[in-house]
Amino acid sequence: MRCVVTGGAGFLGSHFCDRLLSEGHAVVCVDNLVTGDAQNIAHLRAHPRFQFFQQDITAPFRVDGQIQAVCDFASPASPIDYARLPIETLKVGSFGVYNCLELAREKDADFLITSTSECYGDPLVHPQREDYWGNVNPVGPRSCYDESKRFAEALTMAYHRTHGLRTHIARIFNTYGPRMRLDDGRVVPTLMAQALEGEELTVFGDGSQTRSFCYVDDQIDGLRRLLDCKDPYPINIGNPIETTILEFAERIHRLVGAKRPIVFRPLPQDDPKQRKPDITRAKQLLGWEPKVQLEEGLRRSLDYFKESLAKSSTSPRS
Ligand code: UDP
Repeated sequence: MRCVVTGGAGFLGSHFCDRLLSEGHAVVCVDNLVTGDAQNIAHLRAHPRFQFFQQDITAPFRVDGQIQAVCDFASPASPIDYARLPIETLKVGSFGVYNCLELAREKDADFLITSTSECYGDPLVHPQREDYWGNVNPVGPRSCYDESKRFAEALTMAYHRTHGLRTHIARIFNTYGPRMRLDDGRVVPTLMAQALEGEELTVFGDGSQTRSFCYVDDQIDGLRRLLDCKDPYPINIGNPIETTILEFAERIHRLVGAKRPIVFRPLPQDDPKQRKPDITRAKQLLGWEPKVQLEEGLRRSLDYFKESLAKSSTSPRS
């Protein structure tokens, strides 16, 4: 296959590029590098089956030659990024997804959209199955992300129904691992960086809110299988093992051997109280379930964050 990967220099997008290349496919990576990082694809630049275009997908864009799949990973995805870039986030989930769908239609290619567990908002049904419609505040601070992804799913289904496009919708639950930005504000890099730098670990609220963390390799394997799946309806891809954020912070504290204590900070508005995927559909339709235990995934991530911190402390910018 020759595949377009938008957001291909981001955390998940760059791992997806690696996966496709390792299978012998060709990759056209498109990224505007607003939240993506050229470093994530630096090792691919000389690869004969890899092309990179710095391009904002909210403007119409062309790709020459045949394409078999358009995989859309382009969006700010961490709460502090989309709070800083709310209009860009809404644009990439609407105009950006429209441009990707048009490209897929023109090329008669499959289309895969990386949607999110944020479609469920602050869920009143637990665990979350794909047929739960969610509890989203449409005008709250997270709405730019939640509603752009809900719109993206609706637009994808409209292309499937109207044009018969082969479409694939992933609802991704909290995923972590190497290539997350140290400063992206999400709980995994934040707590790891704090623990490594000898700072207090910040838990928002009382830490009783829950998340279910999926290691990046598992996530990428689920997404890759999804591209081969004929079912057009959303499929949750995440790890169903749930933990409170306080337990999670304690785990990182122990793992890193942190010196300073855990401290409590105000809970951001509309922070979901609980989140855990029901992965019955992923098991049945993709033959997929996560394999990497949290402790192992955190160890692998820790090695990466240690290296990133060492690099940032020696870079001329610091
Ligand atoms: N969180 C925290 N301390 C931090 C960053 C995040 O306690 O320094 C909490 C956040 O309030 C949320 C959970 O960790 O309840 C996961 O946050 P993250 O931003 O990683 O992802 P979300 O699931 O909210 O999109």
